[in-house]
Amino acid sequence: MTYVIRGARIGGGEPVDLLLRDGVVAEVGARLSPAGAELVDAAGLIVLPGLVDLHTHLREPGREDAETVETGSRAAALGGYTAVCAMPNTDPVADTAGVVEQVYRLGRAAGLVDVQPIGAVTVDLAGERLAELAAMATSAARVQMFSDDGNCVADPRLMRRALEYVKAFDAVVAQHAEEPRLTEGAQLHEGEVATRLGLAGWPAVAEEAIIVRDVLLAAHVGSRLHVCHVSTAGSVEILRQAKARGVRVSAEVTPHHLLLTDEYASGYDPVFKVNPPLRTATDTAALRQAVRDGTIDAIATDHAPHAVEDKECEWAYARPGMLGLQTALPVALDVFGEDWELIAARMSRAPARIAGLTEHGRDPAPGVPANLTLVDPAARREVDPAELASLSRNTPYAGMTLPGRVVATFLRGEPTVLDGKAVR
Ligand SMILES: [Zn+2]
Repeated sequence: MTYVIRGARIGGGEPVDLLLRDGVVAEVGARLSPAGAELVDAAGLIVLPGLVDLHTHLREPGREDAETVETGSRAAALGGYTAVCAMPNTDPVADTAGVVEQVYRLGRAAGLVDVQPIGAVTVDLAGERLAELAAMATSAARVQMFSDDGNCVADPRLMRRALEYVKAFDAVVAQHAEEPRLTEGAQLHEGEVATRLGLAGWPAVAEEAIIVRDVLLAAHVGSRLHVCHVSTAGSVEILRQAKARGVRVSAEVTPHHLLLTDEYASGYDPVFKVNPPLRTATDTAALRQAVRDGTIDAIATDHAPHAVEDKECEWAYARPGMLGLQTALPVALDVFGEDWELIAARMSRAPARIAGLTEHGRDPAPGVPANLTLVDPAARREVDPAELASLSRNTPYAGMTLPGRVVATFLRGEPTVLDGKAVR
């Protein structure tokens, strides 16, 4: 199918037409009308490179009651994504070529976004011995990122070996930075709110200590390090210094750490329980500044669907995690305003580069793969959990009104979302 997207503003610029043919942007110009092309009226809409998520939990295999590759892919497409990186903390864990290939094939079968599996660093995420990283890297899934996310690779010797090992295939280790000895029993950010609520604290230093260590290790062995879900002002400062010294480190922040603080937990509603925890207004301010100045490269969702029984229970027993795929762009627009250049950089170009996804994160231009999203910047919508495509309902934004609406998403020139609805 050939499509003409009429009157879209690339990154907020002047309205143009885009011709999508054979999976690529074939032409950009004025009043394009080739015979047989399907017309998509994009008057007033912004066109962005399709969003890329570095940090998605799709829950399949193992917890198909919370999410599947297909339902998560649909949520992603509706959120404006054309590629997502799937975290390996499934059951079984994605620590072999077999499991990463299974997830990869499920993603291709769903066909709504490119699902790029992330491989586990250690066998069964146990932090004891390295998984078969090379076998995953050379599998059909072509894994280029490894993470024990959910767990920290706490053993410094193991972390060093992982960093050394991935150099051979220019892959990256994505660390969930949490010194486990400092967060035993932790329920909420260690601070005023946790004290008031009588909940055990998760201190900022537990994150910062690991980032310092890993930055030093990455510099020592000359490898690429990626830091997942940075949540504290202190972490930002460490990353800023590391980058200034030329360490090959990249970092992501979640939408919820940019918008929400630990004050939201005051009512003990476990929908606000997440790991790392929501922090303070000082932290959110530092994180926002870090996104603006590039100290933080990417906004990543940490989309973490959970079944009702795992979330609607007493705070201490609830699983940490929040939905994110369908609300990330509206939250980013709420926080940063209509800074389309910043949004494209942090939500598409940088994550595509970090994940090694060369077909994604590219501004629409002739010859570029047609992975695009069309956004209505004037729309404002109230988040209704019942409308989300995810199988789970644990969104912290329920009832909030947020700006922006994804009208259409194209994956290799074919729509996955049209008129705000998934095509399948
Ligand atoms: Zn994590």
